[in-house]
Amino acid sequence: MIMILIGPPGSGKGTQAQRLEQRLGAVHLSTGNLLRDEIAAKSSLGKTAETFMNSGQLVPDQIAVEVVAEHMKRGEPDTDYILDGFPRTTNQAEELDRILEERGLEVGTVVEIHTNDEVLMERLTGRFACANCGEGYHKSFKRPKSDGVCDKCGGVEFEVRSDDREETIRDRLGVYHSETAPILPYYAKKGLLVRVDGEKAMGDVTKEIETILIDGR
Ligand code: AMP
Repeated sequence: MIMILIGPPGSGKGTQAQRLEQRLGAVHLSTGNLLRDEIAAKSSLGKTAETFMNSGQLVPDQIAVEVVAEHMKRGEPDTDYILDGFPRTTNQAEELDRILEERGLEVGTVVEIHTNDEVLMERLTGRFACANCGEGYHKSFKRPKSDGVCDKCGGVEFEVRSDDREETIRDRLGVYHSETAPILPYYAKKGLLVRVDGEKAMGDVTKEIETILIDGR
């Protein structure tokens, strides 16, 4: 089974993919994670990808396709995959069909986790972390028990991650609408697309996706 999760940054694709991986025994394949591994390994691919990622832009299609193709080549031919963050352009969607065809496979289900931009901005811009121990907080959903003091280590300094800055998030949302959302009709035409409401509680979204998979759409 090849399942694709499509959704803007902050829609919860990564969390859903992790939960489904455990429940379905499928492999969670996140291009964002694979690219971050390449950056950590200081590979030449990682160095190229880093510049794009830091500015909230997509890495070139060729790079994204290469990391996915390489990863799949290493897996067993009958591995089930949950793709998170790939494909992100129509060209990548077409390349994915080609990679799968070579392995005698095809995309089974595509789930769009639909979430409004205002909700995403609130989720992503509200995040901050203790500068001392890294414990994560959110200004609306998870404040320290005592304002300005870290629950875990008592630290009093907090910081906002660079990729959670408002301008970068706006750029990433803009890229989602201009580059990634246009692939939804590609899958809708094939009768593979289902939409879930990403504004519901995480657990409810997981249940909804599981039902879709069990009922076969
Ligand atoms: P993510 O962890 O999925 O939010 O991805 C983080 C960043 O990695 C994105 O903002 C892109 O710069 C890059 N990236 C991840 N997947 C892709 C992809 N399929 N195509 C192009 N860029 C990607």
